[in-house]
Amino acid sequence: MRKNTIVIPKPRSNFVSVQCIQCGENRVIFSHTTTDIYCKSCGQLIAKKSGSRANILGKILNSLD
Ligand SMILES: [Zn+2]
Repeated sequence: MRKNTIVIPKPRSNFVSVQCIQCGENRVIFSHTTTDIYCKSCGQLIAKKSGSRANILGKILNSLD
């Protein structure tokens, strides 16, 4: 018997905790940001906007749903 699997598309828009590679400051950002995000402490670019998921330039510590 074939098992029917209902695939629920998981929204891939979530929040990620990113650590600035420059100064180590942690920041929670939206992974699909439409604006460039800079570190509030040192001004380092930590997330660059793109068509879909942002390019995270810092160190990703964890994802938060
Ligand atoms: Zn920084």
